[in-house]
Amino acid sequence: MFALWNQLLKDLEKSTAGEDAYIWLNTVRPAQRGDTLVLHVPNEYAEEWINKNCLDQIKRFCLEQRGDNEALPTTVRIAVGDATPPPATVVAPSASENAPVESHLNPEYTFEGLVSGRTNERALVAARALAGGSMEFAPLCLYGGVGLGKTHIMHAIGNELLRQNPGMRVAYRHAEKFVSEMVTAIREEKIDRFKGFYRSLDVLLLDDVQMFINKTQTQEQFFHTFNALIEGKKRMVLSSDRYPQAISGIQERLRSRFAGGLCEMIEPPEFETRVAILEKKSSSLGINLPRDAAFFIATIVQSNVRELEGVLNRVKASAMFSGNVITTDFVKSTLSDIIAARKSYVSLDNIQQMVAKYYNVTTRDMCSARRTATIVRPRQVAMAIAKDITSHSYPEIGEAFGGRDHSTVIHACKKIQALRGSKPDFDAEYRQIKATLHCL
Ligand code: ADP
Ligand code: MG
Repeated sequence: MFALWNQLLKDLEKSTAGEDAYIWLNTVRPAQRGDTLVLHVPNEYAEEWINKNCLDQIKRFCLEQRGDNEALPTTVRIAVGDATPPPATVVAPSASENAPVESHLNPEYTFEGLVSGRTNERALVAARALAGGSMEFAPLCLYGGVGLGKTHIMHAIGNELLRQNPGMRVAYRHAEKFVSEMVTAIREEKIDRFKGFYRSLDVLLLDDVQMFINKTQTQEQFFHTFNALIEGKKRMVLSSDRYPQAISGIQERLRSRFAGGLCEMIEPPEFETRVAILEKKSSSLGINLPRDAAFFIATIVQSNVRELEGVLNRVKASAMFSGNVITTDFVKSTLSDIIAARKSYVSLDNIQQMVAKYYNVTTRDMCSARRTATIVRPRQVAMAIAKDITSHSYPEIGEAFGGRDHSTVIHACKKIQALRGSKPDFDAEYRQIKATLHCL
């Protein structure tokens, strides 16, 4: 029976891709009753999903397999409820409320380790206030590109809260972990426990929520947790690589919940901050980085702090291996490949790839003749950015986007400019994409 079901799952995985399929199919407990394959599912949502998406395929599969093997089932039925009575040791949902919380906090990520600058100042002020006990923002959303300190700030908030309130129920979770815990809970029929745990928290720090894009089941579950925490006046911090309300595929009610909080954008650090970060990191790494060498690194590495750290580690390693003292010339020779790459300007290809990735479309779509709204907007953004930051002409840009006329590019640029003028959120999104590209 299980061999048959496993084979069927493989078949279904190919044809019914997506997170919902993964979740619901994993909740099924198959059993054979005479000629019938009974699919035990935990609730009517699972039943409905299977009915709608793959019951026919399951029936067909069974008939095909049956062939001459009369031991196999011929019909399929879905049954809501467990195949076996729950074991006596099942933990009551409320039990998790008293169980200790695994915070998953990294003690090294503290406020002391963070250098403040113009581009992260507001986020840091809000984070410190929240860590200091303020309940003003529910929730606090931090958003910005990779390597700009979002995760570090979230851990710093958690660490500070725990330092001041040792018994507090604080949990940091990456959105991916939240999803996988949820899937396991559904599979093991412990969803009440899962909910109970999250609702028992005083503070939830949920990182990279853009992972929830198009994951309806996850969003649903999160929405309930979210509401419960907010209504219980608990603290919550979310991070995302984009403005939360710009996360496509996110349900409207979740979006408006986000809007009720405070959103702070973190942008790449400015030159002075980059130098300050380099100096702080080099002293904690125990290396002697002269000022002009720090200036030099801060000039060529502009995109994010993670990259600054990477470069610094590289300089440290090569100084150790070669036994050289770190000077600007030494840094220049160590980083010659990066310097060469910096000299090549941002290409139209880079822009298309980056913008396509941001909006979850393909570059092929972007250059195609398709005119659906989900593609037109990214295409216009990419065209406007191309005009903004490269020296290509309108006809050249049109050509790169599937051979379009220059008037289309002019129209796109005007449209984007108007949108930026009328919608501050969109303007922030545009600037963020541009900032990431500038620093490629
Ligand atoms: P994100 O979550 O935004 O991708 P991280 O929080 O992982 O970024 O930060 C990447 C690295 O850069 C981490 O090692 C972090 O300690 C460091 N970092 C980020 N911002 C700062 C800052 N303002 N000052 C010092 N270190 C920083
Ligand atoms: Mg992060």
